[in-house]
Amino acid sequence: MIGTNMQRERFKAGTKIFREGEPGTYAYLIEQGKVEISAATKGTKIEITTLGPGEMFGEMALIDNHSRSATATAVEDTEVIPLEKTTLEHKISKSDPVLHLLLRVVLERFRWALRRVLDRERLLSTGAMSNEDQDTLYREAKEQAFKQMRLEQDLQEALQKHQFQVHYQPIVEAETGRVAGYEALTRWIHPEHGYVPPNDFIEAAESSGLIVPLGLWILERACEDLRRFQKAMDEKGAGEPPLFVSVNISPRQLQQLTSDGTFVRIVNETGVDPANLKLEITEQLLIQSPEVAAIALARLKETGVQLAIDDFGTGYSSLSYLHRFPFDVLKIDRAFINTMVKEQKSMKIVKAIMGLAHGLGLSVVAEGIEDHKTLEIVKEWRCEYLQGYLFAKPKPAPEIIGALIKSSAA
Ligand code: C2E
Ligand code: CA
Ligand code: CA
Repeated sequence: MIGTNMQRERFKAGTKIFREGEPGTYAYLIEQGKVEISAATKGTKIEITTLGPGEMFGEMALIDNHSRSATATAVEDTEVIPLEKTTLEHKISKSDPVLHLLLRVVLERFRWALRRVLDRERLLSTGAMSNEDQDTLYREAKEQAFKQMRLEQDLQEALQKHQFQVHYQPIVEAETGRVAGYEALTRWIHPEHGYVPPNDFIEAAESSGLIVPLGLWILERACEDLRRFQKAMDEKGAGEPPLFVSVNISPRQLQQLTSDGTFVRIVNETGVDPANLKLEITEQLLIQSPEVAAIALARLKETGVQLAIDDFGTGYSSLSYLHRFPFDVLKIDRAFINTMVKEQKSMKIVKAIMGLAHGLGLSVVAEGIEDHKTLEIVKEWRCEYLQGYLFAKPKPAPEIIGALIKSSAA
């Protein structure tokens, strides 16, 4: 049993018992009345559940030092028994450390899942929800939390069991039509479920921190493969200009690569020329921590590597990033390229982004080209590089090498 000071507290209907974001020192057991648990997501209030006598709330804050993830409001005149954090802390500090860790991990995943469900819910409905909806919301959050934990466990195993592969998609130079380089794209070959696309696991790898060892493996693999591709070209006397490889770097990785010299070590160990490496970065980190990003990107730039801003035009892309950070390349998101021919708006956006990038001295990659019409338009606008299924889908390294040996444009 959790210890209590047994001093009941009373809250009038409409009073906030605690607010989202506040530090939490108590959990509460409801004796009488009703308490609504809600959270705000981007300014919209979402009711999570309503609890009554005999039920507990605010318990998450007792286990870790995280701030409140929801707001508790007395719906009726309510009487609660507060349960003090310090009492529980004492018990936890004496408990088995593995159990302690497990509690924290479960909580962290639950908070993450709850946030996701809430964000999605905000898009679907902004009004109040029925009790049934609220129960579903809670159950879904729990299910998501478990799904996330299972996925993280599987990913850990996948890394140990070498279930990842890096595939390469050609990037074509518009002017000459030759393959100038490749984008490295990771695949998970699951022993039971088969092929798992990166969109289904990169985010989990990022949130669990597994992206750090996985990303290192990908970067090393890509550097080694680049040397093999280059060797194939050198051997047939077509080694100039050298090929490049573009590698996707997630926010957590960017900090890790630069904070302890890991990037320089990989470059030295694999023997690639950093000028032939491009790191593709999305804006996420630039928005979250611009100062951290500025330092990391400046350090990377010093090594001679090229930097690309990826998926430009989606999410929170801000024009100020373009001159604030040392990018060399801008990749226009394929959502715009794909729809250009059908939608005037996409066409205008692509044209404007291209003009802007060129004005700032960046070269542009149009990604997701699937038809000749789109190809002709972006070429007319002097887009430097082209990527898409019209040229080739991503393929494993041995196939790329095979194609390089056969012709000068794989
Ligand atoms: P991305 O960086 O935007 O990569 C381009 C995606 O577009 C790839 O999907 C590629 O296969 C796909 N694509 C290319 N051309 C076409 C086209 O003409 N039509 C269509 N419909 N799609 C095209 P993929 O390989 O499924 O990767 C999805 C995302 O997963 C990537 O988007 C990237 O954000 C992430 N990702 C993949 N590999 C890695 C990695 O090694 N590290 C990190 N951090 N993220 C990765
Ligand atoms: Ca990319
Ligand atoms: Ca992209």
